[in-house]
Amino acid sequence: MEDWQKQNTEALTSAEQLQYRPELEGNGVEKVISTYPMRISPHLVAQIQRADDPLGRQFIPHLDELSPSSATRDDPLDEERLSPVPNLVQRYRKRVLLLTTSSCFAYCRFCTRKRRIGHHQHRVTWGELGCALDYIGADSSINEVIISGGDPLTMSDRLLQEVLERLRSIPHVKILRLGSRAPVVMPARITLQLCKLLQRFEPLYFLTHINHPAELSVETLAACRMLVEAGITLVNQTVLLRGVNDDAVILQELFERMLQARIRPYYLHQMDLTSGTEHFRTRLEDGIELMGGLRRELSGLAIPHYVVDLPGGHGKIPLVPEYVEALGPCARLRAADGTVVDYPNV
Ligand code: SF4
Repeated sequence: MEDWQKQNTEALTSAEQLQYRPELEGNGVEKVISTYPMRISPHLVAQIQRADDPLGRQFIPHLDELSPSSATRDDPLDEERLSPVPNLVQRYRKRVLLLTTSSCFAYCRFCTRKRRIGHHQHRVTWGELGCALDYIGADSSINEVIISGGDPLTMSDRLLQEVLERLRSIPHVKILRLGSRAPVVMPARITLQLCKLLQRFEPLYFLTHINHPAELSVETLAACRMLVEAGITLVNQTVLLRGVNDDAVILQELFERMLQARIRPYYLHQMDLTSGTEHFRTRLEDGIELMGGLRRELSGLAIPHYVVDLPGGHGKIPLVPEYVEALGPCARLRAADGTVVDYPNV
């Protein structure tokens, strides 16, 4: 058994286990996890100081998850409706999402797929994966596959290799994207062997998920460095979370430090309208204002797209502060510092 596999068996999954670290005890953990399971990896257990710190809020269950809300749904992006075969979501003609597993090394309390994550009835079988891969092979308009889950790196190297080989054997699939939170929650999963495996399937973009500077531990940065040095491009998605990172200073530090670690900030996601996550949601105005501040302070390379994934499966759209005051022969454009500048527009 590899080190990461052993660590994975030591994850905290019950309220009883949390009692050994009283400072981590959350509000109503036992009640919450009968609906939404808990999993906290040993690496996170070592990093979290308190239940209400930026990491504790993301991973320790809270009674707020059970508060009813009429604005939220179990499947706000209509992924089940957009699945032509199980575990494959096709929202766009040329890109599909392949849900390889319903497991993760740790369960984020704000997860869009909390209806599936950690629930045994959503276990993905090899037979189902085979059907999804056949579907991709039969639709020549698909040129990009986003390998997701759950966390695809919970699969063994052998299984992951099989999935990647099947995908690479499909001539029309040009680009692979692999989304994983492993560098943050289980950095031991990023082994030299894994890096060598991923290298073989380029162009493969590794999509990290980092929300707060506190997630950039020494181990996480070392794991990202290994991937980068193996020639794998890292791009990141961040979820805007109330009480965790909805703050200009925190986001600036996060994006600057990621860029230094050679991780390109790609998306800043507005929280999806997912049941059990209402307490994390920010207002759209707040996100737009934060983006205006980032534009003033950061290099363009460090600025992600702020996007909202529209309910009902309508896809993502970018939200940007208003920079265009007027168009026409003499356009009026608003600078990041608020000055309105005339712009000859011929
Ligand atoms: S790692 Fe991703 S899929 Fe897993 S719980 Fe977190 S957000 Fe959800």
